[in-house]
Parts: sequence; C-alpha cells; structure tokens
Amino acid sequence: MKKLTILGSTGSIGVSTLEIVAAHPDRFEVVALTAGRNLDLFVKQIAAFRPKLVSVLDNDLAATLAKMLPAGVNPEILSGTEGVVAAATHPETEMVVAAIVGAAGLLPTASAIRAGKDIALANKETLVTAGHLFMEEIAKAGVKLYPVDSEHSAIFQSMEGHRSEDIEKIILTASGGPFLNTPFEELRKVTVADALNHPNWSMGRKITIDSASMMNKGLEVIEARWLFDASPEKIDVNIHPQSIIHSMVEYVDGCVIAQLGTPDMKAPIAYALSYPERVATGVKPLDLTLFSGLTFFKPDMEKFRCLRLAYDAMSAGESMPAVMNAANEIAVEAFLNGKIPFLGISELIVRTMAAHNPHQLGSIDDVLAVDAWGRMKAGELLKAVAC
Ligand code: NAD
Ligand code: MG
Repeated sequence: MKKLTILGSTGSIGVSTLEIVAAHPDRFEVVALTAGRNLDLFVKQIAAFRPKLVSVLDNDLAATLAKMLPAGVNPEILSGTEGVVAAATHPETEMVVAAIVGAAGLLPTASAIRAGKDIALANKETLVTAGHLFMEEIAKAGVKLYPVDSEHSAIFQSMEGHRSEDIEKIILTASGGPFLNTPFEELRKVTVADALNHPNWSMGRKITIDSASMMNKGLEVIEARWLFDASPEKIDVNIHPQSIIHSMVEYVDGCVIAQLGTPDMKAPIAYALSYPERVATGVKPLDLTLFSGLTFFKPDMEKFRCLRLAYDAMSAGESMPAVMNAANEIAVEAFLNGKIPFLGISELIVRTMAAHNPHQLGSIDDVLAVDAWGRMKAGELLKAVAC
C-alpha cells in the first residue's frame, strides 16, 4: 500500500490522480489532501478518501470547511503555507503528488523532499525556478522524483534501460495549442475563450493559457534540462498537432525511442504513482489505424515569442528563469482577468526580464525572494501593456 499526499487535489491533475487512486484501493491510500478555494469538490474528496489531514488556503476557508464536512468525517484541518507543508511532510506519507499550480508549489515540494518523501512532480514551475537546487536536494535526501508532465514521463519511459551518456537529443513534442494556425497579426485580437479552447488536452486555466502562448513548452524545456541533466542544446521541440507521440529520445546510434498514447494525463500520473509497475488507467487504447497521418514540424519562434523567451532565460541562467516564470504568472492572470491582450503576455515578460540582472540562487529562500521581485516588477510594468 503506497501512502499519498496530494497537493492541489481539486485541480485538473489532482482530480485525475484521485481517479487512479479510486481505481486501485488495494495499492494506494490517501493520507493528506490540500486544496485552494473549491470547497464543494474538496468536501466530496474528503468524504470519499478519508484523509487524516487536509488543508485549504486560509483560516476562513478552514472554518467553512469544518462546517461543511458530513458527520463522522473529522480530519485534522489546517490552512495556509503551514497546512500545505504539514500535508507534504506528514509522517505516514511515502509519496507526495505535487500538483499545485505556480511558484506556490515550491516550498511544500522542498519540504517534502527534506522530509524524505518521494515526489510525483506535476508542478513544472518548481524545476523552472529552482532546478539546480531541487536536484541537489533530491540527491541529498536520497528520494525519487517521478515526472507527471506527459512529455517528461515519455522521456523518462524512453530512457529506461539506456545510458544517459548515449543520448544525442531529447525531443519534446508540442501540440501547438489553439493558435497553431493563427497568423501572428490575428493573435492581437484573440480572446480569453479562444485561448482556453485547447484542441487536445483538458487542463487547469493557467497551463491552458501557457499552452496557447507556448510558454508551457518553454517551461517544459527548462524542466527537462534539470530533470534529465541535459544541456540546453540537446533539447529540441517538435510541433506534433495530434499529441500522440508524447516525446522522444534520440541516441548516438541514430535510433529514436518514443512513447505513444491517447492524450490523457491519467497515464503519466499512474506511471509516476506505480513505477516500475504499470496499472490499469481506463485511458482509451490507442488505435493508430484511426489516424491518417502523424505530422511534425519546427515551431515558429517568431510567432510563439514565449518559447523563444524561455530559451533566452535558460541561457541567461541563474535567477532569470525564476523571473521569467514570475512575470508569466502575473501576465497570465492579467490576461485571464481581461487586463492585458494575449500578446501583452510576452510583452510583459520581455520588459520584466529586461529589468533584471541575473544573480546566483543559493537557497530556496533566494528563489522565493527573486520570485517576489519578479511579481512586483511585472505588476509595476502591467500598465505599459494594458488593453
Ligand atoms: P489547476 O489550476 O487545475 O489546479 C491547481 C490546484 O492547486 C488546485 O487544487 C488549486 O486549488 C491549488 N492551488 C492553486 N493555487 C494555490 C496556492 N497558492 N496554494 C495552495 N494551493 C493552490 O492546475 P492543473 O492543471 O492541475 O496543474 C497543476 C500543475 O501541474 C501546474 O504546475 C501545471 O503546470 C502542471 N501540469 C498540469 C497538467 C494538466 O494536464 N493539467 C499537465 C502537466 C503539468
Ligand atoms: Mg506537458
């Protein structure tokens, strides 16, 4: 029986994780769950999975939650950062599913690693902002890190049984999102609804906007750099609109190994939870005869400026990716709230990065400080790119 904490259980990844847990009650047990504000769903999850500890964003929500729980369901209820960290470090937990969105996932994930928990990592912002520190912490604590992001799960699966020194290239695939065939000029007028309309994947709002701008792929390139200890020039992106090949690894002998499947996050989540075994997920089997063609091409870096910015931030290194990430979080929120146009996202990131002199990050506290600086600076610059 593997005992789990799920951080962000009411989100898209959290819900899919609980579907896998529910399908395998003989394998997985939920010790702790955390959520933000969606109490209606959280109450249902708590009643169904009976965690010992739960946590929500603040005290008021915790008080409301206590009143909403059915009779006989009495977990310990905490709130805020303290609550998320308590859930991440619960003495009974063996694995933490890190599925909070954004830099808010940093501290609890770091705490879980230090407490000796294995990590199933969905929160890509963790490795983007503090990759070198996290990989060091993981090595020091001797814990395992399993990728949940579908591309990184595909790379992980394509690397199994192979020597990392034999890798020539890591090729991440990208659907290209809803604006793959939209000319750059038309991107000026696209709406929030257009950007949320992802062709292949159903995900949380922030990552869906990141997919439309292709910042998501940029974040994933940086994530891959740390996760697989790969130098930036060995990581490529191919647009693959059908999202059937989830990523691939090319070896020195010219062989390419890829992982394929119906696009459904339950498959990579289940693999992270049950590694090295495979368990039933209910994911629709892949019938390649139904596809008239799988296509691949290079991304247009002029049009998808956020992807270019992520490569720029990665080569600047040090604190620059954390600042880029912070500016992106502010920009996406502002776009979702109708304050800036779609192209304002990359514009705000460019301006915030230009105002930053990268410096070394020696601790998670340094990362949190530069993240706060990036948010503050991006907030100041918002006016310049407003609608
Ligand atoms: P989501 O918005 O659907 O869910 C986020 C969860 O985190 C919710 O439970 C929310 O309540 C909680 N949360 C948000 N802000 C919080 C805060 N400040 N403190 C505590 N909890 C907070 O997001 P998602 O789509 O499930 O994505 C989660 C993470 O997984 C992201 O980092 C995303 O990039 C990554 N990811 C998601 C997918 C996907 O298919 N959804 C795929 C790959 C990677
Ligand atoms: Mg992905």
